[in-house]
Amino acid sequence: MLIKISEGLYGFIWDDYSQNNCNTYLVDSSKKILIDPGHAHLFANVRQGLDALRVSLADIDLVLATHGHPDHVEAAAFLKDTSRFTMSRTEYDYIVELTGGRYREPEPDFFLQEGGLDIGSDCFDVIDTPGHTPGSVCLYWPAKKVLFSGDLVFPQGVGRTDLPGGSGERLKESIVKIMDLDIEFLLSGHGNVIAGKEPVRENFRIIRDYWFRSL
Ligand SMILES: [Zn+2]
Repeated sequence: MLIKISEGLYGFIWDDYSQNNCNTYLVDSSKKILIDPGHAHLFANVRQGLDALRVSLADIDLVLATHGHPDHVEAAAFLKDTSRFTMSRTEYDYIVELTGGRYREPEPDFFLQEGGLDIGSDCFDVIDTPGHTPGSVCLYWPAKKVLFSGDLVFPQGVGRTDLPGGSGERLKESIVKIMDLDIEFLLSGHGNVIAGKEPVRENFRIIRDYWFRSL
């Protein structure tokens, strides 16, 4: 389902719960950035949305992965010849090791590093948020007060920590790191968009009150 979240920001929200796939987001600003393109065999969902926006794959300047799980990153292979690709170095090394070296493509064109990331005339902040995986990141867009949270937090939930490289303690520290940011739109890897400062704050309250004790 394609939704316009705000000016220059679209979500391809995955609502088929019989299959594991992530939400994909398109930043259509000074550059076009596709965040977490999803599973390869489910990419038609994103492609249809891009068609509706009259955006071709070749128009995408950068594909950014919040982390390296296949339900987030696999379809990046479709854009490897026309778009740049990035994830954190820690995550790339983790995925290569996890797959016994079978992970080949796409190779990152550069690695995400914690701190400011300028793409075109837009400024973002990369925030290291390990816990779900060792090299997971969140991407914050201060001008729009948007947080792309990957699989760190969801509506009324948090990312799994029982997969290889996961850590509940680190996940909790990562949530504490981002929960006081000024966020108007919380765009997570699974589930619905949370819009509005108060609903976002309420979501973090729920996570703190109900999830922190089990992490
Ligand atoms: Zn994941």
